[in-house]
Amino acid sequence: MAGRKITVIGSINMDLVTSTNQIPKVGETVLGQSFHTIPGGKGANQAVAAARLGGDVTMIGAVGDDSFGNTLVNHLTNQGINTENIMKVKDTSTGIASIIVSEGDNSIIVVSGANSHITPEVIEKNEDKIFDSYILLVQLEIPLESVMRAVELAKKHGVLTILNPAPIQKLPNELIEMVDYLTPNEHEQALLFASLEGTEQELEKLKEKCIVTKGSKGVMIYKNGGKIEIPSIRVEAVDTTGAGDSFNGALAFSLCEGAEIEEACRFANVVGAISVTKLGAQSGMPTKKEVKEFLQ
Ligand code: ATP
Repeated sequence: MAGRKITVIGSINMDLVTSTNQIPKVGETVLGQSFHTIPGGKGANQAVAAARLGGDVTMIGAVGDDSFGNTLVNHLTNQGINTENIMKVKDTSTGIASIIVSEGDNSIIVVSGANSHITPEVIEKNEDKIFDSYILLVQLEIPLESVMRAVELAKKHGVLTILNPAPIQKLPNELIEMVDYLTPNEHEQALLFASLEGTEQELEKLKEKCIVTKGSKGVMIYKNGGKIEIPSIRVEAVDTTGAGDSFNGALAFSLCEGAEIEEACRFANVVGAISVTKLGAQSGMPTKKEVKEFLQ
């Protein structure tokens, strides 16, 4: 629906991907085959997914005062995302993921850098942006207390909240109680609910907030005390990286357009499927036109 805004509060990273035939052992130097820098971070990925579809997206996050930070902010701006509220943190690096890929195996080092500077105070400074939104979309790559504060402020202003609980960690019950929708994959849902406190009945009630993504098996939602399985769209999967991010961005977009939750999940299921047909997380995210063409 026109005028409805999505605010994404989350991580902005540069993925540094090195391909090599051999992962170096301690003290060893090896020659690599190729090197690429690829924009990433779950927050930025989900913001891009929603913006590609035509969503009115504001990103709240942080980058360092280095060249990656400038590149990433320019990149998000070029995707049509409002980047005015992305902080530049002095004397800090932009978040990075250093990924070494070797014959299908990979080793990854993540440095949160500026992402860890998104404190609850930073969230409070952006309360007007949250207030102005129809949906708040958050993940767990920024400090948990900041995610909590963002969801609290969204609740205060009647803003719909989606929490993608990834990377999974132990979460306080209050956070789950506050959010409207949780979007774990099957593995994340199992771990999350194993760590929550409460009676079986209380946990069942919280579980009903889950929209469970199941990769090539589609999506499962809870409705009227039962479960609805939405089968996946059959595609030739080339790279499933970022499928969850595409799903979350599309879900937020579709809810903003006025879709009911089941309809929004069906739409996001299509977007998630299209995203896996191309290499790379963001490069596979379709525009609204591409979704239309795919469905014809
Ligand atoms: P990632 O961490 O790689 O971003 P995820 O584990 O969070 O992914 P998935 O459950 O793998 O998320 O995928 C999200 C959604 O994308 C699925 O629910 C489905 O709609 C779609 N999807 C993913 N993989 C496929 C596939 N192979 N074929 C069709 N659709 C897929």
